[in-house]
Amino acid sequence: KEAYAQLEHKLMALRENSRTGDERKTLDEVFDHETVMGIYKLMTSKIIESVLFPISTGKEGNVFACENLQGKLLALKIYRTSNSTFNRINKYIEGDKRFLGISGSKRKVMAAWASKEFRNLQRMHEARVNVPEPIKFHRNMVVMEYIGSKTAPAPTLRQVALDDPSKVYKNTIDNISLMYQKAGLVHADLSEYNILYYKRKPVIIDVGQAVLTDHLNSKDFLERDVKNINRYFRSLDVDIEDSDHIINNIMG
Ligand code: ADP
Ligand code: MN
Repeated sequence: KEAYAQLEHKLMALRENSRTGDERKTLDEVFDHETVMGIYKLMTSKIIESVLFPISTGKEGNVFACENLQGKLLALKIYRTSNSTFNRINKYIEGDKRFLGISGSKRKVMAAWASKEFRNLQRMHEARVNVPEPIKFHRNMVVMEYIGSKTAPAPTLRQVALDDPSKVYKNTIDNISLMYQKAGLVHADLSEYNILYYKRKPVIIDVGQAVLTDHLNSKDFLERDVKNINRYFRSLDVDIEDSDHIINNIMG
């Protein structure tokens, strides 16, 4: 009880620290009672020790920097249980054979979604795709390795000036290929916004919507991913490979 009150106080303080009215509103939305209870559970089970600062406020969720008892930085991604998020996500869950029988309650679907992102991360991490290491999922939350420094998260490809874009391009294609061939997954929302640049390498994030390669639309998704990446690196004047050629190579 005491510890819960302390956590709530801490989250309030975080809110007071955030500058704009918009951010304040969003933090209020994220930290409803259910979510505070969820974060509290992550603390009592020693997954995280404290929430440090907000990293990102998106349409469908928020990401926070946290640290554990050993002082290791972690990223906590919290899916918001809003109607629009639910409606979009419910479609993906219905089309995924791993989630037969899960639909209906908003809370259940959000939890299934967080577990889907977690399991996708696990498969990718095991296949040595460069993704944040998955740590834990709980309800509508995913805890993973934090990518960045003590003071700032790693920039997205979109936000950074690459000194060797051609090398980053090749590395990105290699990751897509590894993801397909070794993890059996297609990202399905890949772009310069969902790739961080850290230690001179691309790190792929936001894998909640990734689908198994035997999914009905996996080839379309793969094509879209590759075309997005080609479009971005072409804009950086990189000598890109033909997308059909890349896709044939990946699919074998
Ligand atoms: P969404 O796009 O659905 O809001 P993302 O998973 O893309 O969610 O995360 C949003 C932002 O949070 C990213 O653009 C990135 O800046 C930051 N972020 C996400 N995961 C991490 C992580 N593991 N380490 C550091 N920053 C992260
Ligand atoms: Mn994203």
